[in-house]
Amino acid sequence: MAAIELSGLTKVYPGGVKALDALDLEIPDGEFFALLGPSGCGKTTLLRTIAGLETATGGAVVIGGRDVTGVQPGGRDVAMVFQDYALFPHMDVTDNIAYPLRIKKVAKDARRDKAAEVGARLGLDHLMDRRPGQLSGGQQQRVALARVMATQAQAFLFDEPLSNLDARLRLEARTFLKKLQRELGVTTVFVTHDQAEALAMADRMAVMEAGHIRQIGTPAEVFQRPANTFVAGFIGSTPMNLLDGAVRGDTLEVAGHKVAVPASAGGLLSDGEKIVYGVRPEYMSYSAGPVDGALGGKVAIVENLGASHLVTLDVNDVTVQAVVPEGSEPAVGDEGYATPRRDRALVYRDGALV
Ligand code: ATP
Repeated sequence: MAAIELSGLTKVYPGGVKALDALDLEIPDGEFFALLGPSGCGKTTLLRTIAGLETATGGAVVIGGRDVTGVQPGGRDVAMVFQDYALFPHMDVTDNIAYPLRIKKVAKDARRDKAAEVGARLGLDHLMDRRPGQLSGGQQQRVALARVMATQAQAFLFDEPLSNLDARLRLEARTFLKKLQRELGVTTVFVTHDQAEALAMADRMAVMEAGHIRQIGTPAEVFQRPANTFVAGFIGSTPMNLLDGAVRGDTLEVAGHKVAVPASAGGLLSDGEKIVYGVRPEYMSYSAGPVDGALGGKVAIVENLGASHLVTLDVNDVTVQAVVPEGSEPAVGDEGYATPRRDRALVYRDGALV
């Protein structure tokens, strides 16, 4: 087990794409760390550079206190699970799991014992003689995990390991993987484009954009207090309302209405300055009649979210969304009033959280 430290890590691909831009990151020993961000932001490149499958253009990778920047993948003592599992089709489950041990020249009996032990732990004991083609997607994923576990590496690197599973299996695998990581206590870096997955599984996470890390924090920190408007707009199953506004004395003017200054920005704003007001649709209270401090408008869209509804209001030509409990949803064309929670609303100045 080992901490992973990256400093000034830069990767420029031939052709000039700067996939990682002087990136600094410290992942403590035993942490489950998720990398999240839009397609092309550099997540896979970061993981592959930690593994040694890509050569850094600049900066350093330190694993367990050892500078491995110039070390080949085999010498780094990390194990990586790929999106497609990369199982050997002609080998049975035992041989697939034991493969890294064969490379390490572990004796045959010891290899088979280890494969059996790890396979049993992952519920594969009755499948050990089958080949990958005879397994379901979820079972193949477990074999790929078992192979990584059998290596007893210092760190695990996962590149979207759940993306080939259907929705239900994916939820199961999420819980399973999290539990397993806890038990083993191995430092794990997990790349995903699924934010629900990152929020549910990670001890801490980083949100990346264009080769930069835009925020590092616990899932709660990143969700409750996005550090900038990029993260605010990216995180959340329904995007945060990000509304242009201005400071007017001791209130804010937003979408033609007066709203209270959020608790977190109290005393930090100057009269007249332009801001962006952020509030998640989940943190709005909704009513059909006028309320002081509400954003009032006409209901444009009502979407069913299952146990609640997402109501889109047209507030003086500005779009404002609120989540409304089941049973109290309005009809399109109704008047509606959404009141932001003062303890949950946020203010951004020049894109950064105040
Ligand atoms: P996704 O979520 O779509 O997998 P990602 O965040 O993992 O994306 P990367 O695959 O790391 O992103 O790619 C980062 C950037 O580097 C992209 O602009 C991509 O086009 C570019 N890139 C990736 N691999 C190469 C390569 N081998 N040669 C040149 N450019 C590359």
